[in-house]
Amino acid sequence: AAEEGFDIEEVEGAIEAAGHGPLPVLAVVGRPNVGKSTLVNRIIGRREAVVEDKPGVTRDRVTYEAEWAGRRFKVVDTGGWEQDVLGIDASVAAQAEYAIEAADAVVFVVDAKVGATDTDEAVVRLLRKAGKPVVLCANKVDGPSGEADAAYLWSLGLGEPYPVSALHGRGTGDMLDKVLEALPEAPAQTFGTAVGGPRRVALIGRPNVGKSSLLNKVAGEERVVVNELAGTTRDPVDELIELGGKTWKFVDTAGIRKRVHLQQGADYYASLRTAAAVEKAEVAVVLIDASESISVQDQRIVTMAVEAGRALVVAYNKWDTLDEERRYYLEREIETEFGQVAWAPRVNVSAQTGRHMEKLVPAIETALAGWETRVPTGRLNAFLGELVAAHPHPVRGGKQPRILFGTQAGTKPPRFVLFASGFIEAGYRRFIERRLREEFGFEGTPIHISVRVRE
Ligand code: GDP
Ligand code: GDP
Repeated sequence: AAEEGFDIEEVEGAIEAAGHGPLPVLAVVGRPNVGKSTLVNRIIGRREAVVEDKPGVTRDRVTYEAEWAGRRFKVVDTGGWEQDVLGIDASVAAQAEYAIEAADAVVFVVDAKVGATDTDEAVVRLLRKAGKPVVLCANKVDGPSGEADAAYLWSLGLGEPYPVSALHGRGTGDMLDKVLEALPEAPAQTFGTAVGGPRRVALIGRPNVGKSSLLNKVAGEERVVVNELAGTTRDPVDELIELGGKTWKFVDTAGIRKRVHLQQGADYYASLRTAAAVEKAEVAVVLIDASESISVQDQRIVTMAVEAGRALVVAYNKWDTLDEERRYYLEREIETEFGQVAWAPRVNVSAQTGRHMEKLVPAIETALAGWETRVPTGRLNAFLGELVAAHPHPVRGGKQPRILFGTQAGTKPPRFVLFASGFIEAGYRRFIERRLREEFGFEGTPIHISVRVRE
């Protein structure tokens, strides 16, 4: 590496930065208007997003990447959703519950100026039940005179209230230090399963695509009755299902089976649930209603799984209803709308008739195998050497940037770091990704490629 002009520490640092596995998840929960979104913006260090959003506008983005003191994690924001038909307590509880399920640690935001309300107490009960580490954020303490308000929140029994002004940044550093203490290095619930234990599958898709029908079909009828009863207490949320001679853990199935029809905020609620399931899973099976046109919402759900770095299978359901014409148009739609995930295994199923259910497991296994693929450095560099020689980067400003060497820094999903002599254009990066896929497979998995340029 040194001969190529890279300092060894730089190379090691780049590999370590790129090679991080799945990030631990922090959920920010609390009543409406306590300042959750403001706090999330402060944590992710961006003006982007949430607070500027108009009420009523669908927000499908609920997770963000953040970094504090050199550690990276994800933040789930529950600030985008107002009270709905269920009433304030139930709404807050439901959204908090999903967020808490997905999280490794929780920041519970209370408006210190208002003090603890009954709704806050209800969230505290949920937090106790979940048993996740909690950091209590006493927000809207904009100056020293508010500190006394914060102290009152000891009464919640969640330990020390951290006085914070999400708006001005006061106290957020101390609070985040505490958050880092509470957060595990890696998301325990997702990847803490013992080797050989059941793999975690998230069955996701917009409402009415047939998730619950599919789940019922694969889980077997009898089991469903039992679980529907259990589902009324929303517990257990994960379900072990035997499929293809193996046991799989379908995550957040209570959410799928829950039959509450929300009006206001329903889309946001669904997004939150989807994000929670994706975070807990290793592989996402996105269910699409093949009888209808592929929608923006379908695409968002696929994007959510890809951005979360999960293995992906796309299943087209309700195949029994398709006539020849619809099949023709569906193929065109798949080409234009899902070109970006052409690498994902595809199955055409019917939850109603059971068609092609047996193809689900091989597809999931293929995706997981791609997700875990590791290319030895020697092989990768032999491949890169040939590739660069046969297809050099276009000359720019009289110079020809070159990929000098590369390594796979991590798996789940595969992450590569390439070291280059100059800026590598997006088109060339895509070309490399395409060729990597042709050469090494990576079926069913997103791959990350970062490029380091020699100074
Ligand atoms: P959410 O509904 O919990 O996400 O709350 P928002 O983040 O949308 O904030 C609700 C309102 O409280 C907004 O008007 C914010 O500007 C305000 N707010 C948030 N944090 C603070 C704070 O630390 N101090 C003060 N004074 N106002 C805040
Ligand atoms: P979910 O909201 O995604 O859980 O969707 P459901 O499982 O509740 O299904 C929505 C509707 O689609 C129900 O009326 C199902 O009977 C119907 N449905 C689900 N799968 C199929 C299928 O494969 N074929 C047909 N014809 N209908 C289906």
